[in-house]
Amino acid sequence: MNRFRFSHEPIDEPALRAELADPTCGGYCAFEGLVRNHNEGMQVRHLEYEAFEPLAIKEGERILAEAVARFKVEHASCVHRVGDLAIGDMAVWVGVSAGHRDEAFRACRYIIDEVKHRVPIWKKEHYVNGDSGWVNCERCAAPSAHADAEPHTHEHSNTRGQPATRSDHAHAPLVPDYSRQIALKEVGAAGQAKLRSSRVLVVGCGGLGVPVISYLSGAGIGRLGLVDRDKLEPSNLHRQTLYALVDVGKPKAALAAERARSLNPDVDIQTHLVRLDAQNARDIVSQYDLVIDCTDNFSTKFMLNDVCVQLAKPVVFSSVYQYEGQLQVVRPDKAGACLRCVWPEATRDGLVGNCSEAGVLGPVPGVFGTLQALEALKILMNLPGQLGDEMLVMDLLTMSSSRVRAKRASDCPDHATRRSARAGAGAGAGGSVGSSASAGTTFASATSAENVELEFDTLDDALNAVFEIIDIREPKEIVETPLPSPRVRNVPMAEVLYGKSNVLTGKTLLVCASGRRSLATSQDLRERGVPNVFSLKGGVQALRGVALRG
Ligand SMILES: [Zn+2]
Repeated sequence: MNRFRFSHEPIDEPALRAELADPTCGGYCAFEGLVRNHNEGMQVRHLEYEAFEPLAIKEGERILAEAVARFKVEHASCVHRVGDLAIGDMAVWVGVSAGHRDEAFRACRYIIDEVKHRVPIWKKEHYVNGDSGWVNCERCAAPSAHADAEPHTHEHSNTRGQPATRSDHAHAPLVPDYSRQIALKEVGAAGQAKLRSSRVLVVGCGGLGVPVISYLSGAGIGRLGLVDRDKLEPSNLHRQTLYALVDVGKPKAALAAERARSLNPDVDIQTHLVRLDAQNARDIVSQYDLVIDCTDNFSTKFMLNDVCVQLAKPVVFSSVYQYEGQLQVVRPDKAGACLRCVWPEATRDGLVGNCSEAGVLGPVPGVFGTLQALEALKILMNLPGQLGDEMLVMDLLTMSSSRVRAKRASDCPDHATRRSARAGAGAGAGGSVGSSASAGTTFASATSAENVELEFDTLDDALNAVFEIIDIREPKEIVETPLPSPRVRNVPMAEVLYGKSNVLTGKTLLVCASGRRSLATSQDLRERGVPNVFSLKGGVQALRGVALRG
């Protein structure tokens, strides 16, 4: 007995469970999904579910049938609430009866995952602050995907794991499906939306560029710009796997654009059939959020570096040589080291051979281009573990790798240029190179303290202003000077900044001893795109009624 249903009434779990009772089954497994009080940093008050019921039931029953066949379970059932739900209400219930526990667990997991991704259900969240919004049509992070409410084609839609054929879904439009990356908890629908709104420039459509273009198109980047002036040559094909022998002689950027569009029609592909120079680079780069350098010539790399430092755009660099390569991310937007900080004596072309002179094994640029695509996705979605101010060097012949600290140089001419350009000298692209080489090595933080620091006399004042309070001091400090409120969470600074999960769920006030660490942490988080985080000015020392010891 397999049934997929919607319910306007609260879900009656004991009754559903009784329906699945079967004396031949030794295992029963259920999943209950509940309405929680927050999502994506917003405090949720209540929510509404709406479904396109005829199609949703059809797809839901298809999922149950798949689970029964695939995991050899006896019965599977699923109920999803629609209408208005309160915090804590059960939104979805899945139950499975099977001969043994393992099949029951796996089938249950399969059903809830597939229901989340495939069944057309929309959720409207109502927030504490009075706003509301439709969210969580996870498959539909791409706008064109929810133009209608029909089920989409999914490669896992039949029980043998074969791709679904058109006849299985005769009415299904062929749309990109990001479900496999959205399923990652660090990505989710929010990460997909970030990719959708990102613009990435790929400079060079050769060995490094090919994997970058494939992966970023597949991932659903909003706009992808391709720069290359070269035409395809037969000697490219051992490493440039996007192209075909019949395409020899055609411009690579145009060929890559065609392939990328066929991979994912949702991505806006722009081609720039030029060789980048200092004149055109500024105009082109300024149209994008992030640049990926996939060139094999050093003068272009340094020119791109200079332009991106001036425009404060992040760049993911890579170069390969025979069997080895390196990866470096330059973050002028984070006051990081640039290429000239690391290579003050700019390497000239010819000092290090490029592929045509030195030779290269095809997969070597493939590996480094793939790493560039990965690092770009991490930056765009602000995933943990970004390379930061380190250079990755890898020898693929010996499979040895090392990470080298890329230090910001105080006498870097590029940073001097940017400082003078920022100072409003109106210097345009040039600036006065090297004029202030002795100036400090840090830029003023992009997030000024005035916007982040708040003054409260007591913690209760902050709680009354609906702040969640997080004490970022170390455990030892907290023992010495505890805060007089049970509603304060203790999360050490390092955890807040670099922890695996995002601990900030809403409007948050960070507290430390003096207000310095909480200010720096808040500014860092703001610059990483976390809104609504504030620092208690003066820290614990400034609070009334806190006994300071030691
Ligand atoms: Zn520099």
